Amino acid sequence: MSQRLVLVVLGKQGAGKGTQCALLSERYGIPHVSTGDILRAAVKAGTPVGLEVKEVLDRGELVSDDLIMRLIEERLEQADATGGALLDGCTRTIGQAEALENLLGPEGVSLVVNIEVPTELVTERLSSRRVCQECGSIYTDTDVSAVSGTCEKCGGDVVQRADDTPEAIATRLAAYERDTRPLLDFYAERGLLVEIDGNQDVAAVSNSIHEVLVGRGLL
Ligand code: AMP
Repeated sequence: MSQRLVLVVLGKQGAGKGTQCALLSERYGIPHVSTGDILRAAVKAGTPVGLEVKEVLDRGELVSDDLIMRLIEERLEQADATGGALLDGCTRTIGQAEALENLLGPEGVSLVVNIEVPTELVTERLSSRRVCQECGSIYTDTDVSAVSGTCEKCGGDVVQRADDTPEAIATRLAAYERDTRPLLDFYAERGLLVEIDGNQDVAAVSNSIHEVLVGRGLL
């Protein structure tokens, strides 16, 4: 890859952002940067940031733009992000999108992919989602790793996320509609937005994204 590829991946909770970013990260050799994963790791480790955000996360509300931008700035300065990054779950508000533009410059974001999936389907996916607490692998409740509670990839504990409860799911989807959906216009105005149908199988979604990147000359 000749240029720095910074891909912002948008979509409702449960649209498949994490799954797609993990696949694309492997394919392109650039890091999958998930603000949700960074925050959950901080909660688990009991750091000051973790203690500050735990309840906000559990309720399904958004943490402050300032904190998110501090985390993103630190992460993008790390050596493995020199060639780019797949930003999963950031940006999530207009404030974050403006701050990211200031941080990286007007050409800093290469493309924004919105994975669109109907609300009923994401609600179903989130309710049956299980995750590995160690490596972040995502399963559904009928997968062997979810049933056994042990991740087939790393041996870590596979659990239901604290914010995948019906109340927190409803709060998160409302936050998406209120705070994140307006970003689609923000990025469309900059000619950066691409819509991807997320109601296809995982490989098909991944290939759709890949084709767009190739078509735009970004790979
Ligand atoms: P996710 O794993 O992306 O669903 O994020 C889990 C939770 O982390 C969210 O419900 C928010 O509480 C918090 N979070 C993650 N990314 C952001 C962000 N960019 N802005 C605000 N809060 C965030």
